[in-house]
Amino acid sequence: SLNVPSRPIIPFIEGDGIGLDITPAMHRVVNAAVEKAYRGERAIAWMEVFAGEKACAVYGQDQWLPAETMQTLQDYVVSIKGPLTTPVGGGIRSLNVTMRQDLDLYVCLRPVRYFQGTPSPVNDPELVDMVIFRENSEDIYAGIEWRAGSPEAKKLIEFLQQEMGVSSIRFPETSGIGIKPVSSEGTKRLVRRAIQYAITNNRVSVTLVHKGNIMKFTEGAFRDWGYELAETEFADQVFTWRQYERIRKDEGRAAADTAMAAAEDAGRIIIKDVIADNFLQQILLRPAEYDVVATLNLNGDYISDALAAEVGGIGIAPGANLSDTVAIFEATHGTAPDIAGQGRANPGSIILSAEMMLRHLGWDEAADLIIKGVNGAIEARTVTYDFARQMEDAT
Ligand code: ATP
Ligand code: MG
Repeated sequence: SLNVPSRPIIPFIEGDGIGLDITPAMHRVVNAAVEKAYRGERAIAWMEVFAGEKACAVYGQDQWLPAETMQTLQDYVVSIKGPLTTPVGGGIRSLNVTMRQDLDLYVCLRPVRYFQGTPSPVNDPELVDMVIFRENSEDIYAGIEWRAGSPEAKKLIEFLQQEMGVSSIRFPETSGIGIKPVSSEGTKRLVRRAIQYAITNNRVSVTLVHKGNIMKFTEGAFRDWGYELAETEFADQVFTWRQYERIRKDEGRAAADTAMAAAEDAGRIIIKDVIADNFLQQILLRPAEYDVVATLNLNGDYISDALAAEVGGIGIAPGANLSDTVAIFEATHGTAPDIAGQGRANPGSIILSAEMMLRHLGWDEAADLIIKGVNGAIEARTVTYDFARQMEDAT
């Protein structure tokens, strides 16, 4: 656990586009909540660090992500950021991706919860209460891919056909090729964090979401490694569907059901799995059956945004990127240049990310006040246009 001083220095990146609108709003809300909760005995010392367009202005041309900024994020352990522009051309990777890779932020954490009064396209949005742990460093998103017709792609095709005996699929000259790496280590550290979270936060289940029926050695392995980790490292705290299946085969359904009921009574976390496409139906039809979710990078991307849409959209969806030591809380939406600087952006995403940050620091009293404030604002319909628009549609 963290050793937090009463006046911690928290680095922040203002962010590009609507970052200029939402980050100062977040500061005002957090400062007020901390002041009200601790009456001056605690306060956050905000320290601006630069990335994106502002870094180019301060440090010079093409200094999108200065080394000094990266060092500070590393050294200060907990920080918060607004959205960043991805520079076009010049072979520069997305700043978010660079940050994740260089700091080994392997967990993308996205809580999805409903605030009463939020416009929603589903019937029972109050049943949506999930926390997504998305693996953030592997999978097809690792960026290992080659353009169709490039010498590398051609060489790979030749290798696959001649050395690896891949004949079931033809590769036309124009095939782009991407590689999907999924490791046991990468999977286990992600699933471990998800289970630890479930235990600490009194959650009831962790669902492994995968396409293991189609991609056996990557997504299927993710499921198997996840179960294995759960059963070995958390033997006394979980009960898995795989264990249920074993008992059912050996002793019959009644015995398996009894074991499951006993595990639930004992407060064990149920570890289950579901195929990703089915999961996307289930979150619309039976959202109450899902709680903590652990999944691979690409699935996690789709799932996070699909779930966010059920509870108010990206304008209020908070998130964090975590390594074993560093935690960077962030607005999950983009820079929205279409509305930047107009005072119209919804600051909910970065405010609720700050709420997560306060809990991470152990400052629950201030975090609770932020939740109360967000609830109050939505109830009073003090909302930005993205919400107002959906509310009008709904009435
Ligand atoms: P980027 O290229 O940085 O991703 P973007 O314009 O694609 O920028 P997104 O976050 O993907 O930004 O948002 C898409 C659209 O959703 C925006 O153009 C904007 O209209 C709307 N939007 C995004 N975030 C907010 C917000 N916080 N408040 C209100 N509207 C938002
Ligand atoms: Mg975008």
